[in-house]
Amino acid sequence: MAMVGTGDGPAIGIDLGTTYSCVGVWQHGRVEIIANDQGNRTTPSYVAFTDTGSLIGDAAKNQASMNAINTVFDAKRLMGRRFSDASVRSDMKFWPFKVRGVDNKPMVVVQYKNEEKRFSAEEISSMILVKMKEIAEAYLGTTVKNVVVTVPAYFNDYQRQATKDAGEIARLNVIRIINEPTAAAIAYGLDRKSTTVGGKNVLIFDLGGGTFDVSLLKIEEGIFEVKATSGDTHLGGEDFDNAMVDHFVQEFKRKHEKDISKNPKALRRLRTSCERAKRILSSNAQTTIEIDSLYDGIDFCSKITRAKFEELNMDLFKKCISPVDKCLKDAAMDKSSVHDVVLIGGSTRIPKVQQLLQDFFNGKKLCKSINPDEAVAYGAAVQAAIMGGEGLLDRCVGMKKVQTLVGMEKIHDVLLLDVTPLSLGIELFNGQMRVVVPRNTTIPTKKERIFTTVETGQNGVEFPVYEGESTIAKENRFLGKFELIGIQRAPKGVPQLNVCFNIDANGIMVITAEDKATKKKSKITIVNNNKGTLSKVEIARMIKEAEKNRFEDEENKKKLEAKAALMDYTQDMKEKVPSLSKLDRKDKKKFKAEVSKTCEWLDENKNRLAECEEYEDMMRKLENVCSPILGMMD
Ligand code: AMP
Repeated sequence: MAMVGTGDGPAIGIDLGTTYSCVGVWQHGRVEIIANDQGNRTTPSYVAFTDTGSLIGDAAKNQASMNAINTVFDAKRLMGRRFSDASVRSDMKFWPFKVRGVDNKPMVVVQYKNEEKRFSAEEISSMILVKMKEIAEAYLGTTVKNVVVTVPAYFNDYQRQATKDAGEIARLNVIRIINEPTAAAIAYGLDRKSTTVGGKNVLIFDLGGGTFDVSLLKIEEGIFEVKATSGDTHLGGEDFDNAMVDHFVQEFKRKHEKDISKNPKALRRLRTSCERAKRILSSNAQTTIEIDSLYDGIDFCSKITRAKFEELNMDLFKKCISPVDKCLKDAAMDKSSVHDVVLIGGSTRIPKVQQLLQDFFNGKKLCKSINPDEAVAYGAAVQAAIMGGEGLLDRCVGMKKVQTLVGMEKIHDVLLLDVTPLSLGIELFNGQMRVVVPRNTTIPTKKERIFTTVETGQNGVEFPVYEGESTIAKENRFLGKFELIGIQRAPKGVPQLNVCFNIDANGIMVITAEDKATKKKSKITIVNNNKGTLSKVEIARMIKEAEKNRFEDEENKKKLEAKAALMDYTQDMKEKVPSLSKLDRKDKKKFKAEVSKTCEWLDENKNRLAECEEYEDMMRKLENVCSPILGMMD
């Protein structure tokens, strides 16, 4: 675990989401979810590349339709993955931006500053992390270095390591990676509320924009144990929007005998309106859609009721319940044993989804008092504060708060008792997978198994390590391999080779093999084998590049501000011209000439971003002429 440095400012919690990210900090004895420069409490996980620089968050999402191939989102789906992974191949089909495999690592390819550039998912995520850090810094007025970042409970060690690498590229100190459902449970303080004997079982239902995750946690004396996870990596709010879009496409066809389904711009405008209508239908029984000149100059206006919206999506809504059932089955738990059901993700605001879930749990009250978009960042902020240590106590005054903190302190020791999302094991000589660490084993963990030789006199053994549920190793995910040489020469089946999987709290594993007779040892650290994760050299290069880009973006921002200031002032002066009639002809002419000169210069340079000094120089010249003349009018 990374250390918390002193003088690094308060530690913050970041929910690095697939579609949106959110940042929170513990302040004045409570969590503050921090709004970004646009006043929004969640920030789109979007990065856009342009000829002049990069844009992150709302600015990137807002220009996405005009610059689709250079606007990157969903980077989380690429984290810690290989280009050949089936999920990458299928996700790619739906992205407007290009992804290429470089040494089997997926790289996003964009046009940036008039050049083709490649970025890894870690680099894209690092840009989002920097943005979230800056949002916190602007609010706090101090620098921020230490962060707790959340990841889905099913993230494997590559994906966790990739998230840590993204933090490193962003020059952040990731003090801990925690599971999103764990963070949500912390947000609700479920670890601190009075507990029945045998602990408390909490089901976290997370339905976001594009992903659906269900996790079952057991919380006992501040210990969080992920009992099971389930879900659907491609189910969420966007699917509900699409169902409504299809409905209106059909309606348009019926009413106007025109098919808008091949017109991307019309579809985009319709989708935006549908998403808005969907949100309204979470609180109102009906709403209208109005879009001017949607297609062929035809204005589109229609009504939709909540009942219709539910009918359109009923199959999808029902699809949200079966993973809940599966999760309970995996954990061998009856639904009556679940103490709390927690809602997170924006789509859990949909009343029908809530109702189906509540019915499934026989009318149980759902935990939904914390904004579902913010609960994960909220919990991450609590965890960050705990790990921030003494500073936290300094910032909180009053007995009650200190007591709360003492309560939370309990979490500190044991928070990361999460699970291995998939079974881990070794491929046997016959291609079978021998599981050493079963799926859903609580981590940190240490598990040992004895292996042996298959040939008499065999001196070395290879241990290919896999992750997955198939009994055939090759059908699982290959993680790496290592060899143990120098074992005792003996008849086949006699040597006793002890293989030990040691997985730490961050899910990073060290596997050792030891011949009991010769004491010869060999080991592998899975996250450091550079297959899918970044090497230290690569990270160092990315840090340098990111800093260079940030510096250039900062410079560009200054240039854009200088340009805007000059344009504003020139426009002001242009508008003053008619009021100069009282003045001397010579002064008037001089004034007008200087304004025209500046306008021409701006026009000539409209396609390039000039240096700050050039704008400032033009501004000075214009002011030197205009100011004294305007002064004569007073
Ligand atoms: P998340 O990824 O958790 O931020 O969830 C974002 C998703 O929640 C998007 O698909 C939104 O359209 C959806 N969402 C946000 N607010 C509402 C609401 N009031 N009713 C229905 N869906 C919503």
